[in-house]
Amino acid sequence: MIEASCHCGAVRMAIDTPPEEVTACDCSICRKLGVLWAYYAPQQVRLTAAPDATLVYLWNRMALEFHTCRTCGCTTHWAHVDRTYHRMAVNARLMEPAVPAATRVRELSNSG
Ligand SMILES: [Zn+2]
Repeated sequence: MIEASCHCGAVRMAIDTPPEEVTACDCSICRKLGVLWAYYAPQQVRLTAAPDATLVYLWNRMALEFHTCRTCGCTTHWAHVDRTYHRMAVNARLMEPAVPAATRVRELSNSG
C-alpha cells in the first residue's frame, strides 16, 4: 500500500497501488506549487483529513479544487468539483521518496 501525507500529518491518503507514472506539469499553477501528480480514480484514494483541514483553491474555470494543508502548507491533492468526475491527483511528493523515484516521470507541457 502507498501512503501519502502532508508534513504535519493532518492530511493522509492511502492507495492500494503505486502510480504507473507521475506527471510534472508546467502549467501556471503546478510549476509554482512544485508538485508531481499521481493520477487515480477517486474511489482508489482513501483520504483521511478533518473537513476543514485543507484550504481549497478553485482553478481551471473553477472546476478543480487544489487542496493545501491549512497547518503545514503542503499541497496534497486536487479533486474535481464534480464528484462523479473519473480522476483526481495525489501529490506524489507526499509519498515516500522512493515511490516517485522509481516511477517514470511524464513532462506535461500545458503552459497555461
Ligand atoms: Zn499538514
